[in-house]
Formats: sequence, structure tokens, C-alpha cells
Amino acid sequence: MSKIYNFSAGPACMPESVLKKAAEEMLNANGSGMSVMEMSHRSYDFESILKDTKDTMRRLANIPEEYEILFLQGGGNLQFSMIPMNFNQHGADIINTGQWTKKAIKETEKLGRVHIAGDSSDATFSYIPKITQDDLDPDTDYVYICENNTIYGTKYKQLPPHEGKRLIADLSSCIFTEPLDVTQYDLIFAGAQKNLGPAGVTVVFIKKDLLDEQRDDIPSAMLDYKTYVDNDSMYNTPPTYGIYMVGLVCKWLEEEIGGLAEMEKINHKKASLLYDYLDHSQLFSNPVAKEDRSYVNIPFVTGNADLDKKFIAQAKEAGFVNIKGHRSVGGMRASIYNAMPLEGVQALVDFMKKFEEENA
Ligand SMILES: *Cc1c(COP(=O)(O)O)cnc(C)c1O
Repeated sequence: MSKIYNFSAGPACMPESVLKKAAEEMLNANGSGMSVMEMSHRSYDFESILKDTKDTMRRLANIPEEYEILFLQGGGNLQFSMIPMNFNQHGADIINTGQWTKKAIKETEKLGRVHIAGDSSDATFSYIPKITQDDLDPDTDYVYICENNTIYGTKYKQLPPHEGKRLIADLSSCIFTEPLDVTQYDLIFAGAQKNLGPAGVTVVFIKKDLLDEQRDDIPSAMLDYKTYVDNDSMYNTPPTYGIYMVGLVCKWLEEEIGGLAEMEKINHKKASLLYDYLDHSQLFSNPVAKEDRSYVNIPFVTGNADLDKKFIAQAKEAGFVNIKGHRSVGGMRASIYNAMPLEGVQALVDFMKKFEEENA
């Protein structure tokens, strides 16, 4: 099989050494004589994996003790419901930056009041609305954002003002792509399948005192963050294999990459390589406001739908797979998360240059 580079937006490529380690341990994890998949979640072996995964995350992002690390299921999408179900008492300020906040708004409206504090739908979500404290509704409990907009390729470089309110953020596509100051937030969530591991596990960092502000009508233990806090994410059977993989990815970040600051340097280098080319290309362009550009999801177009299609087909043949843009926006998108090596981005840029010459 020839080398391929996988630019999928999620589930996405994983670090090769992590996959190798998982393969090595597939039949006999840590001398247990069994696969992690076969372990009781109540066993000493699995409990050590859970603890080790949490400890590694805490070290990586300096997560203080006032924050709990939780592992849930239901993806990012369940968080769109659980957040208002637990914390929307008086309303939520939501900044609308694309498909993922639209879904959050829809779920939040079912459960309480929503105030749209900013909205970039007027320009196909190609920028991040820069709001001030005055744009917030004085009565809401929290401000909600999607920090990196996977589909449109925008990213907050500065968090919005939220004085007197909690800040809740969807970091599904940017978690651990750069240093993270958890103390700036009250709740962070991320589906693992972009930067942390396989689909099926959602990581939540929650400030413990947020639990003092829960609604009293949460319909089920499984929808109550406190259940996960009180039971160390093991009220029911947690996604054990996913948690193990998240642990391996975090160890890779720590030991092979050298931490989040190093990861950020590599990610910026990768992103600059592609943006620099896009900004000079006569054929391809990126539609996003420069100051709001994502480092990990980079959409681009030729401006001609047929040529886009031709590019996607030829790219696939050359080993650059999953480069088609999201069905809602068309064009192309290169998702270059942590696990995409610099060589992959360089090879893509070389291929784009060649395509541009041939189609000038
Ligand atoms: C992928 C993604 C989601 C959706 O996650 P699911 O696990 O499919 O529910 C939510 N938010 C963002 C920013 C995403 O990139």
C-alpha cells in the first residue's frame, strides 16, 4: 500500500506511534493477558488506565484541582443538550459561528432562554464576531462559544468578554492543539475524534463550583454532570477503549511532542505553510478573515465547482484523502490536526502547486 495522508475532519488521523502501541497491546495490555477492550471497568487494570489518562491530561494542560476531568458518551451533540439541561436557569448568551453553534442554539431553546450575542451568518461564518460586554444579556447564566469552527475554518484568538457569567466552550476540534488555560473557562467539552482519540468518548473539564448552579429538574442521572463527578465517570460502563486511546494520545503529546507549547509551534508551522501558499496562489483561495483563521481546519476553493471536483479526484488518486469540504459549504478543506505531520502538509502544498500549473 502506498503512503496516504488523511485530511479528514473527524474521525481523523491518529499519531502512527500511538496506533502501533495500541496494536502491540491489543492482545495483552500491560501484562494483564487481555485486551483493554476485555477488561472489567471495575478492575485494577482499567482503573489504573483511567487514573493515568487523567493524570497525563492534568500535567499536559496544568489542569488545577478545582476542575474535574470527565469522560462521557453521546459526542459533542449530547453536550449541546446537557449544558442547558444542567445550567440554563435564566438564559444563555450564545455566539453563533456556524453549524455547531446552530445546533447548540436549537437544543438550548428547547430548554430555556437564548440570547444571540453575536452572529457571523451574514458572511457565511467567515469571521468571528467581536462582541463586547454590552452585547450580552444582563440576565443570562453563561456565555457559550464554539472556539474552533471545524466546517468554516475560523478560530477565536481571544475569548469573548463574559464578566459576571460562566464561560462554556466547545473545543472539539482544537483541544490540545495549543496550550490551554483551563482557568479561563467553567466548562470545556470535546469529542475525542478530532485530536484526542477515537469516536465514542467526549472529554469534559468542569469547574467544580459550577455544580452549585445546577437546575433542579435534570431528568436523568445520565444527563447530570454531578453523576459523572461523583462516580469518577463510572456510574455506568464508560467508553473504556476510547479512554485508553485518549491516554495514549496524551502520552504521545507529552513524551514525543514535548507538550502543548511544542505542539502549537508545529501546528502553526503547518498552517502557515498552507496559508502562505493559498495567499499567493492564482487558483486557490481561503475565504476566512485573516485574524480569525483556524490552525487546524483550512477550507479552500478554486471558485469553479468543476475544477474543485477535479482537484478532489486527483488528490485522492495521489494519496490525499478526505479533502472534500463539508457538504454544507462545498470546495475543499484540509484538516491538519495534531497527528498530521508537517510532511503531509508539505506534500499537499506541492501537489496543489502542480495542479495549479497544470490548470492555469
Ligand atoms: C465534530 C464536532 C462536533 C460534533 O461532535 P459529535 O461527536 O459528532 O457529536 C461538535 N462541535 C465541534 C466543534 C465539532 O468539530
